[in-house]
Amino acid sequence: MDTRIIGRLLAIGASALALHACAPSASMATPADNPSPEELAARGLAAAEHFPGLASLCDLTMVFQNVNVPRPVVAEAPADAHEHEEPQQRTPRGSGRDAEQARLAPMQVFDDLYFVGNAGVSAWLVGTEEDGYVLFDALNSNAEAERDIIGGMRSMGLDPGKIRHFIVSHGHGDHYGGHRYLVETLGLPVSMSAPDWALARTLGVHPRFGPAPTEGEVIEDGQVITLGKTVIRLFVTSAHTPGTISPIITVHDNGVPHNAVLWGGTGMNFGPDEAQLRRYAASAARLRELSRDLGVDIFMSNHSARDGSAASMRQLATRQPAQPHPFVRPDAVNVFDVLEFCPLAQAERIARGQYNPAS
Ligand SMILES: [Zn+2]
Repeated sequence: MDTRIIGRLLAIGASALALHACAPSASMATPADNPSPEELAARGLAAAEHFPGLASLCDLTMVFQNVNVPRPVVAEAPADAHEHEEPQQRTPRGSGRDAEQARLAPMQVFDDLYFVGNAGVSAWLVGTEEDGYVLFDALNSNAEAERDIIGGMRSMGLDPGKIRHFIVSHGHGDHYGGHRYLVETLGLPVSMSAPDWALARTLGVHPRFGPAPTEGEVIEDGQVITLGKTVIRLFVTSAHTPGTISPIITVHDNGVPHNAVLWGGTGMNFGPDEAQLRRYAASAARLRELSRDLGVDIFMSNHSARDGSAASMRQLATRQPAQPHPFVRPDAVNVFDVLEFCPLAQAERIARGQYNPAS
């Protein structure tokens, strides 16, 4: 990022917070009436101080990759295929392939929430042995799904046969890559939103992630899955993809309920699409309201570099009985200031003709 821009953003961060009392809208306002990209980014960055894994969303030098490029269906992916992956599909904070493939030990995070991912991408298992489980995401590949999800469950003494639903948060390969192994092993279909089924069906065979799923079940916005005390509310957010699933999940810490929002996709890797950036912001604003209503006090994502879950799990491993749960935070809903104002800043950049990636 241009250091001059960072400096300028930091300098105006405090004043922009005071300046901007009402949410900007995509209504009939001309660009000149709207807050500037810098003002919007400053507001997002101020909130990102407490969610550092999301600060890059407000990078006003960002070049918008588009990973949703249609691909033909081919029989076999080339063996050295990972060289062809799109930059934005990498681990968000530049930790690279070695870190991405590194283990992050499976862990019980709440009474009814388990981490079964790795350092590059997360998979979350919600529920209990008694009431069954919902699995969110399939990781990068069949091998990772076997090692980290199924192997991870067995290492914690959990029965993969008790998984009742297998949900893919959105139609990108780092979340569906292991779906073939899981469909076969679990005997369950993939569930995704209708817009992301439509997306996935255009993606063909990715050189790194293999074939996209083409058939399964459809998750509807507002659908609720209940597993005993554990409640999973599924929301379809047009943001990172047209139909990213972002659930709000009631989990329990030694029996005490908390609500976690799982933002199902983060980056803006859909090309320089102003309308989609504004939909992203609107979806974040909607989830803020839902999260407030439900008393959300946990923010989660499906990349540990985005939500800080790797660090929180390290703290959790040494937590003493009297200490608070490291995932629980009263300011969790403020994450939506980052997730609303950064995309608005980027949209405004495009609206004002300030997006010139070739320059
Ligand atoms: Zn994605």
